Amino acid sequence: MVVFHTINELQKGIRELNKLNGSVGFVPTMGALHKGHASLIERCAKENDITICSIFVNPTQFNDKTDLEKYPRTPEKDIALLQNAGCDILFMPSADEIYPKNETANEPWKAIDFGMLDKVMEGEHRPGHFTGVAQVVYRLFDIVKPHRAYFGQKDFQQLAIIKHMTNALQLPIEIMPCDIIREQDGLAMSSRNVRLTAEERKIAPKIYELLCKAKDLSKTYSYTEVKEIITKDFNAIAAFGLEYFEIADTKTLLPITEKTNTAIASVALKLGNVRLIDNVMII
Ligand code: AMP
Repeated sequence: MVVFHTINELQKGIRELNKLNGSVGFVPTMGALHKGHASLIERCAKENDITICSIFVNPTQFNDKTDLEKYPRTPEKDIALLQNAGCDILFMPSADEIYPKNETANEPWKAIDFGMLDKVMEGEHRPGHFTGVAQVVYRLFDIVKPHRAYFGQKDFQQLAIIKHMTNALQLPIEIMPCDIIREQDGLAMSSRNVRLTAEERKIAPKIYELLCKAKDLSKTYSYTEVKEIITKDFNAIAAFGLEYFEIADTKTLLPITEKTNTAIASVALKLGNVRLIDNVMII
């Protein structure tokens, strides 16, 4: 694997490695990599001639300054994981490289109407977050020019925003959704999990447990009833600071009460100082 820090080096490196014009797969990340990220890289490596991963803790998508400062950074471990997972190129740019101060940015995504996609759930609770996501993903797509890009369903709403942006701008990039990878006790893997105390880590699997309960209850109860029961359950756990529990349509992301084939139960909560999100499909 080769590591590049500048756009020039990266683009030259891609040209050299990809003389036969094979398919380029791309996995954008913020580092502190775990098995969830590894699963994206492994799949990307299987499905493409060249696999590129980026590690960039994007300041513009953090609405909470402390979250940005405390975001874990483990570059050496990340490099080892990427090498084992079959990554060919790692791009680790600085913020100045991604957002050069003296250049006018090309930002066609600013004209996109995301409808309610960027306003509900995460959009409501993390103001400005998806603007930062669209900004960095568009910029990275423009730099890397991949054929396929891989994103985890753990960030389901982010995936919806990126799909919408890619369609709206008619970017020639296939967006590939990937399954959520979990710890053995069900906790969705996340870079932020290392910030949980031992006590909090013991409680954290309750998140997935309650999402599974929501899925189960949905077989017999209405979504309105399920939302009421599960919200109560989350609020009954003192360590959880629930931000939202929602049952939403997978396409519009709007709350639904009628049973359809495409529903997702999503949750965001604070456990101590750590904000966690998770979801399960309800079908
Ligand atoms: P992040 O580094 O948190 O920005 O995540 C980079 C990519 O990895 C995003 O597409 C995430 O959705 C994905 N990802 C993070 N955690 C998991 C997980 N537990 N399972 C699958 N994909 C994940």
